Amino acid sequence: MSRFWSPIVHRLTPYVPGEQPARHDLVKLNTNENPYGPSPRALAAISEATTDALRLYPDPTALRLRTAIAEHHGIGPDQVFAGNGSDEVLAHTFQALLKHDAPLLFPDVTYSFYPTYCRLYGVEFREVPLDDALRIRVADYRRPCGAIILPNPNAPTGIALPRDEIEALVADHPDQVVAIDEAYVDFGGQSAVPLVDRYPNLLVIRTFSKSHGLAGLRVGFAIGQRPLIEALERVRDSFNSYPLDRLAIAGAVAAWDDRAWFETQRDRIVASRERLAASLRDLGFDVLPSAANFLFARHPARSGAELAAALRDRAILVRHFPKPRIRDHLRISIGTDTECDRLLAALRDLVA
Ligand SMILES: *Cc1c(COP(=O)(O)O)cnc(C)c1O
Repeated sequence: MSRFWSPIVHRLTPYVPGEQPARHDLVKLNTNENPYGPSPRALAAISEATTDALRLYPDPTALRLRTAIAEHHGIGPDQVFAGNGSDEVLAHTFQALLKHDAPLLFPDVTYSFYPTYCRLYGVEFREVPLDDALRIRVADYRRPCGAIILPNPNAPTGIALPRDEIEALVADHPDQVVAIDEAYVDFGGQSAVPLVDRYPNLLVIRTFSKSHGLAGLRVGFAIGQRPLIEALERVRDSFNSYPLDRLAIAGAVAAWDDRAWFETQRDRIVASRERLAASLRDLGFDVLPSAANFLFARHPARSGAELAAALRDRAILVRHFPKPRIRDHLRISIGTDTECDRLLAALRDLVA
């Protein structure tokens, strides 16, 4: 606390990111990073872009990247907005599209950055409880609101809604923006992008951090019809006109174009997820059905805090949220099979 702070700073509740330890000998399954890393072609493109051209500002709109994304989805580049990680795209979305007189709705158990943005931008919000199985029920969102945001698959549960339920939600609220945060959709969800043409109120937000193994490069994007994208552009150009640097644009374009790498690593992660889920169930864990690159699981006889601390003592990091309803769950990112085996060996010991 300081008397030098602007008043709003006193009222913020900053997001607490998962730990990024300096030690490298840890099994790091706490922040949903991709264990296989980016396409080698992305690394080569970043090296090639590392020239004295870095004295020049980058393309403010990252047109090359937006064109590559748009071609894949059969839409125009002007329907794509690119930002410095999807967290920045989300932040602009909260400010540009989700702040209205009526409250914004999102699930009570979801990405914990959402209430943080609400406090930063003064967005009124209501949390809509998940059902007893920790699922989103779209019928529960049928109430007056200013806008809606939810991740699909949801985080940290990993549970995905089928596209027709997302469509029902979007169709139910023709006068409100419905933002779908698809950070994990590549690992088994159905994307809402094919609905964008028919629904002017739908905004889909994606990231290169998870399925493209580029969390360190900071690249995210949104897809929607022009009026929504234009709102994001207006906020960007009132904040930072160059959100993506030259290296990020070069690396992201090359990663996007290397579909073979993307699909191979994604399939490996999905296979490891299914194997880990089965092994955890054998150990007595309740494991939610995940369409993401993590599992959300609890053991009926051990508290989440106890398990997370005991794993940490064994140099294994997982994420634990000390929040009502989920305090006994662990969110476990899918690592390599070797990392998953080290986790299983430790848990076998701990729950024996
Ligand atoms: C990881 C994550 C993001 C943020 O991704 P970045 O692109 O790395 O900023 C957004 N939404 C959800 C639900 C996430 O889990």
